[in-house]
Amino acid sequence: MQKFTNPTDIARETFKQLATRRIAPTPENYRRIYHEIAETAPEDTGETEKELIKALQAAGRNNPQQASTLKNIVQAIEQHDWKGLTAHIESLAAQKRTEQTGWADLIRDLIRQWDLKQTGLTTPRKKEALDRVLINFGKNPDEMLNKLRSLVKAWSEGSTGSAGIEVEGGELTESTPNAPSSPEDRVGAPIGPLVSQDETPGMLVELLSQALLNGVLPRIAQFPELAARATDLANQVRTARDIDTLNQFSKNIRQFWLELELRADADREVLDGLMRLLRLLINNITELLLDDQWLHGQLTIMQDIMSAPLNPRVIAEAEQRFKEVIFKQGTLKHSLNEAKTTLKNLVAVFITRMGEMSENTGEYHKKIETYAGELSATEDLTTINKILQDIISDTKNMHLDMVRSHEDLLNARRQADDAEQKMHELETELGQISELIYQDHLTGALNRRGMEEAFVREFARAERAQTPLSIALLDIDHFKKINDTYGHEAGDQALIHLTNVIKEILRPVDVVARFGGEEFIIILPDTSAEDSVNIMTRLQRDLSKRFFLHDNTKVLITFSAGVAQRMGSETTEAMIARADAALYRAKQAGRNRVLLADATAA
Ligand code: GH3
Ligand code: MG
Ligand code: MG
Repeated sequence: MQKFTNPTDIARETFKQLATRRIAPTPENYRRIYHEIAETAPEDTGETEKELIKALQAAGRNNPQQASTLKNIVQAIEQHDWKGLTAHIESLAAQKRTEQTGWADLIRDLIRQWDLKQTGLTTPRKKEALDRVLINFGKNPDEMLNKLRSLVKAWSEGSTGSAGIEVEGGELTESTPNAPSSPEDRVGAPIGPLVSQDETPGMLVELLSQALLNGVLPRIAQFPELAARATDLANQVRTARDIDTLNQFSKNIRQFWLELELRADADREVLDGLMRLLRLLINNITELLLDDQWLHGQLTIMQDIMSAPLNPRVIAEAEQRFKEVIFKQGTLKHSLNEAKTTLKNLVAVFITRMGEMSENTGEYHKKIETYAGELSATEDLTTINKILQDIISDTKNMHLDMVRSHEDLLNARRQADDAEQKMHELETELGQISELIYQDHLTGALNRRGMEEAFVREFARAERAQTPLSIALLDIDHFKKINDTYGHEAGDQALIHLTNVIKEILRPVDVVARFGGEEFIIILPDTSAEDSVNIMTRLQRDLSKRFFLHDNTKVLITFSAGVAQRMGSETTEAMIARADAALYRAKQAGRNRVLLADATAA
C-alpha cells in the first residue's frame, strides 16, 4: 500500500477506502481506517484505562492481602509499563492458586479433625470454636484461612483451639466464659456479618455447608426436625452467589447453633435425671434383696456402670452379659417352678391318703362295734362262726388297705424328697449363673471383673496370713499364626484348650483369668516368685505334651510368661506392669520362656 504522510492525503484516502470497502462511515470506522493508512496507533481516549484502574482500586480496598499487587498493576497501567504489568498479573494469579489449594487442604483437615474424637474436646466445643472463627474472620478470607488452620492444628494436638479467637465484649463471650485465651492473640473484632466483600468466597460457602452436612448432621440424626434444618441450611448456603444472600443465611445459622446448644443442654439434663433415677432404683433393690443370690451379680454390674462416667463399650458389654444370664436364669426358673408344682401335688396325694386311711380305720371300728353287739346278742354257734369270718375278712381288707396306703405314702415321700433336692440344686445353679458375670464366656476363666474381685480377695488373704503372693502374665506365642493357619474358630478352641490345661495342672486355689485376647493372668496365692517360675515352667512342659488337636492335626501351643511376686502393698496395676515387662523380655529373648520380673517398678 502507498505510504501517505500528509494529513489531507490521508483523509482523502480514508474516504476512498471507506467507499471501496463498503464500510459504514461512522466516526469509529473513520478513525480506524485513518490510522491504518497513516500507519499510526489509534490514539487512546483513556476511558477504558480509567475504568480498569477504578475497578482495580476498588478490588484492592476489599482485598487487603492483594492490595499491594493490585497497586503495582495500576501503576504499570498508568505508566504503560506492559512488561511490568504482565509480571504483576502473573504474581496475582500465583497468589490465587496457593490460596485455593490452601482452602482445599484445610477443609480436608477440618473434616477429619471434626470426625475424630479427641479427649476433652466435645463436638459442641468444636462447633463453638469454629463458629467464632467464621463470625470474626468472615470479613477476611485470608485471615480466616490462617485462623482456621490454627484451630485445626489445635484440635489435632488435642487442645480446644479456642485461644486466639476469643471475642472481647461480644455476645459470644457470654456463652463461653471459661474458654482460655492469650492476650496477644485476642481479637477485638465486633461481631459483624459473615461476609462483607464484593465477591462471594466460594470456599467459605463450601466450608460452611460441609461443616453442616458432614460435621453436624450425623450427630443430630435422632432429631429429625433439627437434621432437616441443617440440611436445608447447607443447601441454602450452597446456592448463595452474592454477599447479601449469604449474610441473610448467617443469621439463620446462628439461630440454628443456638437451638443446637439448647437441645444439647436438655439432653444432658434428661440423661442426668435418668441416671439419678436408676441409681435410686438399684440401691433400693439391692437393700431389699440382700439375700437374693440370683440378682446379686446383675446389681453389681449396674452399680459398677453407674459409678463411672458412662461409656458405650461398658454398657454394651454389660447388656450382652445380662442377656446371657437372664436367658439361662429364665430356663432354670421354669424347671424350678415345675419341681415346686410336683412337690405340691405330692403333698396333696399324701393328705388324701391319710384321710382315706383314717376313714378306713374309722369304718373298721364301727364294723367291729356292730360285730361286738351282734356277738353279745347271739348264742348260735353258726351265727358266731359267720361273725368271726366277717371280722377276719374285714381285718384282712383293712390290713391290705393299710399296706397299700403305707406304700403309697413311702412312694410319695420319696418323690417329695427328690423334688425338694432338685429344687435345691436348681436354686444353687441359679446362684452360680449369677456368678457367670465374672466369667469369660469363651474359656470359662475369670474375666477382668472376676480377676479384679479375686485380686482384692487374695491380697486380703495374703496380708492376713502374711504369706507371699505371685502372679504370672502369660501370652501365647505367635497366636496370630495359629489363627491365620487354622482359622479363628481353631484359635478359639486353642484358647479353651490352654485354659483347661492350666486348670488341670494348677492347684484349686490358683486363679486363672483371661486378661485379654490371648493373654492370661494366673494368681498364685502363698507362692514365692521362684516357685511360680517353676510352676509355670512345668505348665509349659505339660502343654507341650498335651497337644491341641485340630482336625486330627497336632498343633503345638507355646507361651511366654512374666512372673512377679507382690512387693509390700503393691497395687495390682504395678504388679501387672512388672510382670508385663518381664513378659516383653521373654518375647524378645525368643519366646517360649518364663522370666522373673525386676524388683524395681516397670
Ligand atoms: P507374639 O508371640 O508376639 O505374642 O505374637 P502373637 O501373634 O501371639 O501376638 P499378636 O498380638 O500379634 O496377635 C495376637 C492375636 O490374637 C491377634 C488376634 O486376632 C488374636 N486374638 C485375640 N483374641 C482372640 C480370640 O478371642 N480368638 C481368636 N481366635 N483370636 C484372638
Ligand atoms: Mg498378646
Ligand atoms: Mg501372643
